This record gives sequence, structure tokens and C-alpha cells, in this order.
Amino acid sequence: MSDFKNLKDKKILVTGGAGFIGSNLCDALLQNGAQVTCLDNFATGKRENIAPFLQNLQFTLIEGDIRDMETCQKACLDQDFVLHQAALGSVPRSIKDPVTSNEVNVGGFLKVLVAAKDAGVKRFIYAASSSTYGDSEGLPKVEDVIGKPLSPYAITKYVDELYADVFKRTYDFDTIGLRYFNVFGRRQDPNGAYAAVIPKFVMQLMAHESPIINGDGEYSRDFTYIDNVVLMNLLALTSENTESLNQVYNTAFGERTTLNDLVKYLKEYLADFDPKIADVEVKYGDYRKGDVPHSLASIDKAKNLLNYNPQFSMKDGLKEAVTWYWENLK
Ligand code: NAD
Repeated sequence: MSDFKNLKDKKILVTGGAGFIGSNLCDALLQNGAQVTCLDNFATGKRENIAPFLQNLQFTLIEGDIRDMETCQKACLDQDFVLHQAALGSVPRSIKDPVTSNEVNVGGFLKVLVAAKDAGVKRFIYAASSSTYGDSEGLPKVEDVIGKPLSPYAITKYVDELYADVFKRTYDFDTIGLRYFNVFGRRQDPNGAYAAVIPKFVMQLMAHESPIINGDGEYSRDFTYIDNVVLMNLLALTSENTESLNQVYNTAFGERTTLNDLVKYLKEYLADFDPKIADVEVKYGDYRKGDVPHSLASIDKAKNLLNYNPQFSMKDGLKEAVTWYWENLK
């Protein structure tokens, strides 16, 4: 990862900092000499994700909930920047319980946004989502063409974008939204009903269990390795191009892979550790409600305005991720 020396001693709040993406952001910020505050209620985040940082004097943990205004105010006090990652992810979770997803992803988002603005934070970078493209069928996805949301989760993430936009117009508060596309990599949680497909399949294959693909396996995704996502966040934080502010950006690699190919690569890479994994068979189940058939990002806007140049292809990232799961969770 490139050096971002201008982050040295900058005070940065990472909400959801104990989660998969948030903890990787905390790590990268600390490596660049920033003073990092992590706000998390451990709803889905893990203490072990931040355990390595707890001895670091540049790191502060605030255990609290973004649905509580006072907690947000305390966390935003004296911060230069906010990287807002805290949310309840997962489309199926939001279909099961839309109220809680909305309370956290919209209500909590708004509270962190208000607290950041009131505290005089210079820039608010937030996790948006590719789910905002909804039923728009065109590929690749370009930032200003979106469809109707297909799930409560997608609504929450789109409402966040609307709030961010209005905060520029009404309070002159600078934000950048990063529409993440199926992020994967070290520390992504493989367990639970709402686990993402890559860590779930890796764990199943390591245990010689058949992964179950929803549908015929020809749905495709722009699977994005975590280090590309960290890079986008650091570029958004440090960009000196005023045109790059108050925008949303696709955060992806810019290639799509079908679920069938994904499993093929996972088996191939895991078979280097355990040859028997090559023989594990895939099973097929029903399509899932709320899933979009295909997802592929245009990353031209990020390349042009943020000088984004993703370093990890899907396959390179997958090799890294598989090695991490084998070494840490086998
Ligand atoms: P994650 O579940 O690992 O991280 C979310 C973190 O937010 C967790 O640590 C959780 O404990 C915390 N959190 C949840 N509710 C909270 C609350 N009320 N108060 C304080 N903290 C709370 O998920 P992730 O994959 O790291 O996702 C990070 C962000 O990126 C989320 O906003 C998510 O919607 C978004 N996103 C992720 C992906 C992806 O592929 N992983 C794709 C699109 C968008």
C-alpha cells in the first residue's frame, strides 16, 4: 500500500472499527501514523479484530452505539475526519428485520453525520453500497444511473447518500460516499446466518462440506479485495482535488466473476493446502430474494477524480484471503 504520510497524527474516527472493513481501516491508518478512535457496539464486530491495536497509544476504543446521539458527539469531538463504516450489513438481515436495519443504517448514520458536522470535522467518508443500483440492468454500473432498490438494506444505503448530498447543500459539509462492491479478505466473518459468500464457502470447503450456491451459479459479482477498499478510503481522506468531494464512487476492481467460477478458484487455491478439497462438490439451492443477477462497476470516476488504481485483482485477492483463512481459522 502506498504511503499516506499526510495522515500522520491526523485524528480519525472509524465507526464500525471492530468490523471487517473498519478494522482493516484502523490498521492502515495506524500504519500511516494517524490517531485512531474506533466507535463500535460489537453488534457484528469482533474484539479480536482490534485486539492488536489496544496497546497502541495512537488507538482509542469507544464502546457505544451510533443510535445514541451523546455517544456520537463524544466520538466526533476534536476529530479531523470520520470514516463511517458502522451499519447492519446483509440484504437478508434487512428483509427479516427492516426496522432495526433502518434505525442503525439511517438513524445512526444521521446522528454520526450531525455530530461530525457540529464538531467541525473536515470531511466525512462513508460506506455506501452497490445495492443502490437496485433493478437497473445496465452494466457496468455508472454512479449516476441507479434503479429502484430491491431490499430494505438498499434503501438505507441510498437514503444515506441523499442525506450526505443535502448536508453539502444546507450546511456546506463535505462528504464522500464509497459504494462498496462485494468486499472480501482477511477478518471477514465466516460465521452466522448472514455471512458473506466468500468466507462462508472457504470455511465449508476447508471442512470438506459442499458449498450451496443460490440459483444456477451464473449470477456474477465484482468481488473486491479489502486492500483496494482501504486504498479508496485513504485516497478519499487525502484528496486535494475539490472536484472529488461531495461525490459517490464505485469502490471495486472492475471485473465480474460468476459464483461457479468463484467456487472453482476457491477449490483450486485451497487444494494447495489440502488436495482433497479439489473433490468437494457444489450443491445448488433456490435463488434468494433481493439479490441482483449481475454486478459490475465502472471505476472510471474513481480513477479520474481520486487517482484510484486498484492493486489487487479478484484472483490475487482471493489467494491472499484463502491463505489468511487457512492460517488463522483452519
Ligand atoms: P461488519 O459487520 O464486519 O462491520 C460493521 C461494524 O459496525 C461492526 O463492527 C458492528 O459491530 C458495527 N456496528 C453495527 N451496528 C452498530 C451500532 N449501532 N453502533 C456502533 N457500531 C455498530 O461489516 P463490513 O462488511 O465491515 O461493513 C462495513 C460497512 O461497509 C457497512 O456500512 C456495510 O453496510 C458496508 N458495505 C459492506 C460491503 C461488503 O461487501 N462487506 C458491501 C457494501 C457496503
